[in-house]
Amino acid sequence: MNYTEIVSRQKKYFNSDSTKPITFRIKQLKVLKNALMSMETQLFKAIQQDFMKSEFETFVTELSIVYSEINENIKKLSRWSRQKRVKTNLINLPGKSYIIPEPLGATLIIGAWNYPYNLSLAPLIAAMGAGNTVILKPSEIPSRTSAVMAKLINEHFPSEYLFVVEGGVPETTALLAQQFDKIFFTGSTSVGKIVYEAAAKHLTPVTLELGGKSPAIITEKSAIDRSAQRLVWAKFLNAGQTCIAPDYILAHETIVEPFLESLKKHIVKNDYSFEQGNYVQIINEKNYERLEDLIDEKKLYYGGQKDKTSRYIAPTLLHDVDFNDEIMQEEIFGPLLPVITYSDINEVISEIKKRPKPLSCYIFGTDTRVKKELLHKLSFGGGAINDAIMHIANQHLPFGGVGSSGIGSYHGEAGFRTFSHYKSVLEKPLWFEPNLKYPPYNNSKLAWIKRMIS
Ligand code: NAD
Repeated sequence: MNYTEIVSRQKKYFNSDSTKPITFRIKQLKVLKNALMSMETQLFKAIQQDFMKSEFETFVTELSIVYSEINENIKKLSRWSRQKRVKTNLINLPGKSYIIPEPLGATLIIGAWNYPYNLSLAPLIAAMGAGNTVILKPSEIPSRTSAVMAKLINEHFPSEYLFVVEGGVPETTALLAQQFDKIFFTGSTSVGKIVYEAAAKHLTPVTLELGGKSPAIITEKSAIDRSAQRLVWAKFLNAGQTCIAPDYILAHETIVEPFLESLKKHIVKNDYSFEQGNYVQIINEKNYERLEDLIDEKKLYYGGQKDKTSRYIAPTLLHDVDFNDEIMQEEIFGPLLPVITYSDINEVISEIKKRPKPLSCYIFGTDTRVKKELLHKLSFGGGAINDAIMHIANQHLPFGGVGSSGIGSYHGEAGFRTFSHYKSVLEKPLWFEPNLKYPPYNNSKLAWIKRMIS
């Protein structure tokens, strides 16, 4: 496929200003919504075949977010795209100043495999809402979901506006050699660096939605059972293959034993089995083997059962873990939950600060002073107090990382901003022009200027 030609056709289409009217954007978002609704059965079937994800989980964690992003854009686009008046400073008076949001142009979106629909289509919707053209490259790993998204987009939209390219590293590398006006990438920190480097060659702005190890801190005064219930759901959803899953738990020594018991109780209660549609497969053999190696039998508290043929790894709890253990060296991205015991909250703060800034952090506790201290001292992309993962489901909260967990954010208005440039304009009338800034320069003019800016 000739990517240079597709990108140049999209640029030509963008430069015709066809994507700019709000009426056009809303119409296209409605086309997308109808196409999604008409293809829901195919979307559910594809993901079920790829990694046994049930209709329930696909709707709750993927399509519901996609639909709510479409609805939010349709409802709020007129407001978000409105020109905004700002104050004019003394030196520029008389005059008026305003900011005009404008689309960036031809954009590239690269998706990750773990929530294939959500992570490809939510940025696509933000790019469409902001008035851009898009080439979307979903992850090739769940191949059926990639194919169904190519069908969805390529059959309902002209390729000079939206186009899905399927493929893996060679295709992405070839796309990255093109000059885009924006690149939006979701995936690992290591590939994020490749994308950033390719974008730098063309000075293309990027949003990088990356990963990392997200801690859950269980403070001394915590509601043990409720916290365990929420953490179990958040961790074992999608078999732990979630960028914002609680990667590991830091539990205070006085509550760690009842907390582990409570985690176990909720795992049993949730009945994580493929048959019930309550659980998903490990995405591929490579990840299965990587996870298998991380289970340290000496530290096994609960779970550990596995089956290679069906790529099943049971929800697994590990205890007495410390920061030097192998499982603590990389993002786990699977159903293994290590629990580290601590005695002093300052140790927790200092250990987290030594490491790359996490994508998420979850703080469990009822002591307001401790919560405030942790929020003040720790830097992370986003998170929750007394819950985990659910912050992603609020479109009013920008979603993204910080440091090595990412650059930029999206969802709701944050997505619109991510795919827009805010053009600043000063407009002057012609009837007045003080001669202060013009030569010949002298001390009296300088004194006036100093007075005006002080
Ligand atoms: P990945 O980085 O392997 O792949 C992401 C995309 O990059 C895919 O489309 C893939 O085809 C492409 N790619 C892979 N290697 C490439 C290369 N060498 N050159 C160019 N392109 C390449 O990530 P993944 O395995 O799909 O997803 C898992 C990672 O993504 C985890 O680290 C997870 O935390 C992170 N993630 C982050 C978010 C977020 O929103 N912040 C969401 C989901 C996943």
